[in-house]
Amino acid sequence: MAQVTHLSVARRLDRCTVLGPGARAVIWVQGCPLRCRGCVAAETLPFEGGTSSTVDELADWLVGLPDIEGVTLSGGEPFSQAAALAALLDAVRERRPDFGAMAYSGFRYEALLRGAPDRRELLRRLDLLVDGPYVASKRHGLRWRGSANQRVIALTGRYAHVADEPDTSAGVELSVEADGSLTWAGVPPTPGFREGLEERLAERGFALRTEARREA
Ligand code: SF4
Repeated sequence: MAQVTHLSVARRLDRCTVLGPGARAVIWVQGCPLRCRGCVAAETLPFEGGTSSTVDELADWLVGLPDIEGVTLSGGEPFSQAAALAALLDAVRERRPDFGAMAYSGFRYEALLRGAPDRRELLRRLDLLVDGPYVASKRHGLRWRGSANQRVIALTGRYAHVADEPDTSAGVELSVEADGSLTWAGVPPTPGFREGLEERLAERGFALRTEARREA
């Protein structure tokens, strides 16, 4: 697998409890080749933009975060930057071998398995995958995912227990950053959640920040 040293990142979050098991960091990569109607992350879709971050810098950040058990890779489409994300997980696990990894993909698991070698290499490093495109007509208040066609697939035994837990919405989390800006994370359980939240916040003089939050 070719050595890739940089990632284009739309956003990252130190700690989140609504995008996967336990408390996790989250990286939203920049760029997705799909265009699911009703995608809630429109700002992450263009491959232009984002923050160019090195694998080493992101690994240092993840290893230094306290009280998280792993990372969730979201986007954007993580498998469009598969080689860099695989390198990132390797770099983190050199120092934290127990670090958990979950990823979202708009592609089905079977398609990823048939795909390019770098995609299979990323799959090999994941514990949990949420696969498939968002389909608005199949929207459902399910845990960690927006529509009923999307599956939560345990790729290792680490999170096999999640299949026995209630499959209901984990909700969303709002964060107030040190500079006073607001961000949110999670899979909205209702259509129009984001627009409604932005409107209500705007009425009170607040704006949600959606752009990349750190410079590499
Ligand atoms: S795969 Fe995900 S990020 Fe890409 S368009 Fe669909 S919902 Fe949005």
